[in-house]
Amino acid sequence: MSDSIQLLPDHIANQIAAGEVIQRPSSAVKELLENAVDAGATEIKLIVSDAGKSLIQVIDNGCGMSETDARMSFERHATSKINNIEDLFRIRTMGFRGEALASIAAVAQVELKSRRAEDEAGTYIEIENSRVKKQEPVAFPVGTSIAMKNIFFNVPARRNFLKSNAVEMRNIVDEFTRVAMAFPDIAFSLTANGQEMYHLGSGSLKQRIVHLLGNNYASKLVNVEEKTDYLNVYGFAGKPDTAKKTRGDQYFFVNNRFIRSAYLNHAVMSAYQQMIPADSFPMYVLFIDLDPAQIDINVHPTKQEIKFEDEKIIYAFVQAAIKHALAQFSIMPTLNFDLDPGIQQLDAVARPFTEEKKERTAASALYNTFTQKNQAHLIESKSDLKHWKDFFTASDKQPAGRPDSTADKFEYEQGGSAITRNTGPGEPLRLLENTELLHIHATYIVAPTNQGFILIHQQAAHERILYERYTAAAKEKPIATQRNLFPITIPLSAADAVMLEDLLPDLRLLGYEIEPLGKDTFVIQGTPADVEQGNEKVAIEQMLEQYKHFNSEVKFSRREKLIRSIAWQHAVKSGHNLSQKEMKLLAEDLFACSQPNITPSGNPTYIAFKKDYLERMFGK
Ligand code: ADP
Ligand code: MG
Repeated sequence: MSDSIQLLPDHIANQIAAGEVIQRPSSAVKELLENAVDAGATEIKLIVSDAGKSLIQVIDNGCGMSETDARMSFERHATSKINNIEDLFRIRTMGFRGEALASIAAVAQVELKSRRAEDEAGTYIEIENSRVKKQEPVAFPVGTSIAMKNIFFNVPARRNFLKSNAVEMRNIVDEFTRVAMAFPDIAFSLTANGQEMYHLGSGSLKQRIVHLLGNNYASKLVNVEEKTDYLNVYGFAGKPDTAKKTRGDQYFFVNNRFIRSAYLNHAVMSAYQQMIPADSFPMYVLFIDLDPAQIDINVHPTKQEIKFEDEKIIYAFVQAAIKHALAQFSIMPTLNFDLDPGIQQLDAVARPFTEEKKERTAASALYNTFTQKNQAHLIESKSDLKHWKDFFTASDKQPAGRPDSTADKFEYEQGGSAITRNTGPGEPLRLLENTELLHIHATYIVAPTNQGFILIHQQAAHERILYERYTAAAKEKPIATQRNLFPITIPLSAADAVMLEDLLPDLRLLGYEIEPLGKDTFVIQGTPADVEQGNEKVAIEQMLEQYKHFNSEVKFSRREKLIRSIAWQHAVKSGHNLSQKEMKLLAEDLFACSQPNITPSGNPTYIAFKKDYLERMFGK
């Protein structure tokens, strides 16, 4: 038997590889335009015939190529843009893989003309099917012209796959628009079948946008500009009244490279929330510039996706930049963004920028690089609402005892015992002011009272406080919602999804803004203002579990069950450390309750020790 492995002939290997880079005429347009940009051209002409099927030609006045370079440029992996692996992390050019011209030459008939300023004569090269057919000197102005004829003439399967001229031309215009948008300094033109469709002089970004997207944007663009050490976000966003029913005019560029990002798009959309109808799309042209080392553009030559080192930061910046821009142009009142008035009155928000706050902010150094006028973001970064309410940080631990019955099991009051409950006759029980509280085992709080002292169970007490707060919220005053900086999706089982869907209106009253997002999936857009963000997914899942637990209790309404579940879920857990201030607030809030002494399910929240009993115990 003979061996069967053979090396593919070059031209076939090239054709196969070319399929990845050049999928349709518009891919070639993109590559050729980008090469012209990389060559430092100030003027770039694109000429197409037959939607690029018979001709795609790009003429530039860039640096041009020497005779050797012109020949070399069609070799696979021939590039002048990277020399070593480190260069890969500092890419500032549009291309760098050295694949485009090789691919183009593999699937078309190509004519190249090029001349450098220092050369007398230019170079003319004709290539077909990756083979040089002709090479000779030519008179040519400084720059390069590459004409690609009869794309896929040698790959009929691909040629047959091309769409109608209308569709392919649309794709070409899209690519042209993306490159032209990113480089307003460069003059561009597009001529199709002998007719000039675009003639774009060098100018400002705003002019370029208006030329490309239409005059109706002329007075409707809001300047976006957010500069930091880490990244710059700039560009324009359409005023809300320019929002369209179609998702057309939305452009993101990262280091001048057009990208698609549903994630970043979401950041922009969320900044526009409530300003535009739910089913419409704002216009934006946004540039994100950052250190190339922070991104991975090396994914695939034609990929428009991008990987960021820290996607969440980018999301927050983009969202903030848009909000700020919209606010600045008094499209909405400054600082009011989407913060509920209820939130702004919270003392953490009203409080000045304290040392402690500064420290926390410093922990996220990137926030610091924000310009001062954007301190509103700090509020949204949500680092510090009253932090004794850091409920979630301990919530990975299951609470000691699940509420299991509504019976009042509070039976501590035994005649003559040292222990008593609060409901005895005489002067009402009161906390003493200005005294230190004692925290024991991160679970109990010892608080002096007018009658002796009480031992508060922090988790039980908090459950009571929240239960009353949420009951009131559901009745008359909904809880303020804190928009999540990073919306979180939760996939659920079909059964849980139905259950959650049912609960959404009530959850909203309790400060949860959750929206269905297709099949059994939800997105958490906002959480109650007084709840630390960061653990929403687990919180919702636990809440659902608890709700199921209550589900057997037919005597409760749906809302009652929900409130009980959430109060239980949000309550600060045993074992969670509290500061003096946090303990005081907890004790005060507990005593402000209408029924402070028991949890909703009937467990004690505190035990009171009275002075006279204490004295008797010590034989006094
Ligand atoms: P890449 O852009 O990834 O380097 P290409 O295959 O697109 O790879 O181009 C190969 C090389 O040819 C480039 O690195 C560049 O040196 C040269 N080149 C291509 N187009 C032009 C142009 N319009 N002007 C000057 N040089 C060009
Ligand atoms: Mg290139």
